[in-house]
Amino acid sequence: MDIASILLGLALFILVGLFVFKPFITEVAPQKRLSAKQELIIRKEMLIDDLRALEFDHETGKMPDAMFAFQREALVKETAAVLKQIDSPDEQVDAGRVDSAIEAAIARAKKGKTAVSNKTFCAKCGKKVDSNDKFCTKCGHRQ
Ligand SMILES: [Zn+2]
Repeated sequence: MDIASILLGLALFILVGLFVFKPFITEVAPQKRLSAKQELIIRKEMLIDDLRALEFDHETGKMPDAMFAFQREALVKETAAVLKQIDSPDEQVDAGRVDSAIEAAIARAKKGKTAVSNKTFCAKCGKKVDSNDKFCTKCGHRQ
């Protein structure tokens, strides 16, 4: 066997390898990359989470009023900027509308949290049951 046929075999081997692995190489890459809009939406979710946490800290007395007002304003401004970019990257958006959109998003997030952790007690045995449950997990009494 001479050098030329070894090289030819090697080239063929690489070509086949590329052909076989091409779908994996090309398909994985676009999935990992988020579009600018997806990144903005994730950023928005994070900001709303931060806002909710901030309000929770304030409501529970962990956060002084002055610091709360300052941090909240910064977060709301940033959220408004992100929402603007998601909504219409080129247009100017009415600030009042953005504000109410933020308030609504926070309210929705809050509602979601409380609905999940809303516990009541079984009328028969007194065990804690989730308000979404139809029956008690301990005694099976209908809620
Ligand atoms: Zn029960």
